[in-house]
Amino acid sequence: MSLVNSKKMFEQAYKNGYAIGAFNVNNMEIVQGITEACKEENAPVILQVSKGARAYANHTYLVKLVEAAVIECPDIPIVLHLDHGPDFDTCKSCIDGGFTSVMIDYSSHPLDENIEETAKVVEYAHKYGVTVEGELGTLAGIEDEVSHAVGSYTRPEDVEKFVKGTGVDSLAIAIGTSHGAYKFKPEQCTVNEKGILVPPALRFDILKEVSKRLPNFPIVLHGSSSVPQEYVKMVNENGGKMPNAIGVPEEQLREAAKLSVCKINIDSDLRLAMTGTIRKFFNEHPDKFDPREYLKPARANIKEIVRHKLRDVLGCAGKADECK
Ligand SMILES: [Zn+2]
Repeated sequence: MSLVNSKKMFEQAYKNGYAIGAFNVNNMEIVQGITEACKEENAPVILQVSKGARAYANHTYLVKLVEAAVIECPDIPIVLHLDHGPDFDTCKSCIDGGFTSVMIDYSSHPLDENIEETAKVVEYAHKYGVTVEGELGTLAGIEDEVSHAVGSYTRPEDVEKFVKGTGVDSLAIAIGTSHGAYKFKPEQCTVNEKGILVPPALRFDILKEVSKRLPNFPIVLHGSSSVPQEYVKMVNENGGKMPNAIGVPEEQLREAAKLSVCKINIDSDLRLAMTGTIRKFFNEHPDKFDPREYLKPARANIKEIVRHKLRDVLGCAGKADECK
């Protein structure tokens, strides 16, 4: 099958209590690791490209890599999505260039400007069957060019006006997740019996209030990596320096996926798996210099972590057929 938009996926995900994984792609090994996992698990998937990814790898290379994945994985539905589109022109260029879904992120602007710019993107996108994600509230943290020192939670009282005023297909909200590998400061956390830092819970009260106001409407969570401590350890034991990297507990994401959250964005966990694996390889094999030798285990570990997310966190393993 060819690339699809996110409409059918979100309908099924909403109805059946799971979420679609949205994984960021920047090069061939990442595209392969993710899609091989989805193929084996028979899972629908969203491959997303940020402004930073387009600057790094070039729009055409990314589109062609994703098109190659579509050919290699003919039985699973794949969406090509723009992550954090900064303005109408970037969204338009992606729509014209083969994307099947875009995000317009005007969340740091006043509500009325956010509505106006988002509506403009929706009007253009829908002419081409492209679905649109908007955002209300801001996430703290750093992700490519998107950076905020402090976040602000989504105000549930704004959501109906925003969705009605724009016609968006899904809405990203801020309930305590954040971008990057340092989502919480140690002082925000409590320590459990094993001595592991436990971050504060996501604001499920806001999620539930938003869902009450927007029945049957798909919600998106950004910044939802869990920062697996095994990989943080692997990085740190092999010359890296990532003290106090903390993510969102997977049980909370599983809980959100059972509710109205239909798309969960995961990027840092894949970066960590890749970097940890390569650092370990270099440490153990200082004589090796063939990129294929260290990219191969990195790709294999990306695949493993994605499989785990599909099965144990998102709940979308085995759901490819119903999303077609
Ligand atoms: Zn994001």
